[in-house]
Amino acid sequence: MSLWNSLVKYSSKQDILYKVPVRYLNLLEYQSKNLLRRTNVAIQDFCMIDDQGENGLDKFNAKEYVIKAQILAGGRGKGHFNNGFKGGVHITQSRQEIPNIIKKMLGFNLITKQTPKDGITVKKIMVAESVNIMRETYLCILMDRQRNGPVIIASPAGGVDIEGVAEKTPELIKTIPIDIFEGITNKMANELAEFLEFKGELKPKAAEEIKNLWNLFKTVDAVQIEINPLVETDDGKVVAVDAKLNFDDNAKYRQKEIFDMEDVTESDPREVEAAKYNLNYIGMNGNIGCLVNGAGLAMATMDIIKLYGGEPANFLDVGGSVKEEQVKAAFQIITSDPSVKAILVNVFGGIVNCATIANGIVGALKSTPLKVPLVVRLEGTNATEARRIINESGLSIQIAGNLDDAAEKAVKAL
Ligand code: GDP
Ligand code: MG
Repeated sequence: MSLWNSLVKYSSKQDILYKVPVRYLNLLEYQSKNLLRRTNVAIQDFCMIDDQGENGLDKFNAKEYVIKAQILAGGRGKGHFNNGFKGGVHITQSRQEIPNIIKKMLGFNLITKQTPKDGITVKKIMVAESVNIMRETYLCILMDRQRNGPVIIASPAGGVDIEGVAEKTPELIKTIPIDIFEGITNKMANELAEFLEFKGELKPKAAEEIKNLWNLFKTVDAVQIEINPLVETDDGKVVAVDAKLNFDDNAKYRQKEIFDMEDVTESDPREVEAAKYNLNYIGMNGNIGCLVNGAGLAMATMDIIKLYGGEPANFLDVGGSVKEEQVKAAFQIITSDPSVKAILVNVFGGIVNCATIANGIVGALKSTPLKVPLVVRLEGTNATEARRIINESGLSIQIAGNLDDAAEKAVKAL
């Protein structure tokens, strides 16, 4: 959970937050830091070690080292491993000690407040030059839906307990909207540096870092850049010690290099498979697999399934320009989930041609027979033809007349 999530959590707005099919690309810390380095944000030197035998340690020297497990979740410092080892962030001055620490991290699951309860397997480790921290602050630039634009969130009380700060002392957190055309002005950067309590020579340095972070935010189409902590060191530097970057998936076409960095091994394999076919997949806890078109219809389908006493197992949104091939792939993804006990196809044809969906379904079921009941509601463009295709296929598919009927039949079919 980022600070943003926790702010939302402690606000009254949480009730209206739906889980909508939006995916933001997330990068590991070392990848994010490579981007920070490009826009001159001060970071620590580091080398990488992974489970494929990459080991940059030989050529790496420092007085003191910080060893950090790389997973797509925060809270590592306070986390623990499934082998009992404590902490996903370790500091040591002894070079000999490093391989011992790595041995206890690599290949084990790190469990933190932000991971699933079994944790996430550590496949990469960063060994960085440790800095002597005098003070930890918090800084985050993000796209804020409520304000229809970017905001900067800052706190002089950064570090591993920022969620606690948000909850107990919210006055220590400042949120300032950014005019997207003006960006972060010198005046704003200076005021922020002051609020973050950077004094003397450190103040202009911090202001510079804040402006560099804004430049990065713009150039990489980020939706979030969270630096926690942004620290003051004992030798008078301002350094980004941790970095969490998220990117707007709509910008994929112009940020190819960044999107190519994505490590999909941590993601839900069904989500990865769906993305290959340009489909959006969202896994949930119920047992009705849902194939829909559009996020709005996905939410309506979820509500109506719940109304009839059911629970969706997932949502597969085939979008607007769907082809038969994608419908087949969608069926394969839905049916590969053992928790799916019935399937509901709910499509409203506008740009989508219902006959395409029907042909896709029939094709999919002819190549892999279905083991669970299937209810289909197809309305809109070419719906009559679609129903004819399904009826003449000879497959056991229940056709529903409307949304209510569809949800009721799907729940009954369980
Ligand atoms: P997180 O727990 O996943 O957020 O990982 P961070 O990278 O933020 O590290 C957690 C905490 O470890 C930081 O808030 C720091 O207090 C500490 N830490 C991280 N890197 C260093 C370092 O180079 N030197 C020192 N002294 N402490 C560090
Ligand atoms: Mg952190």
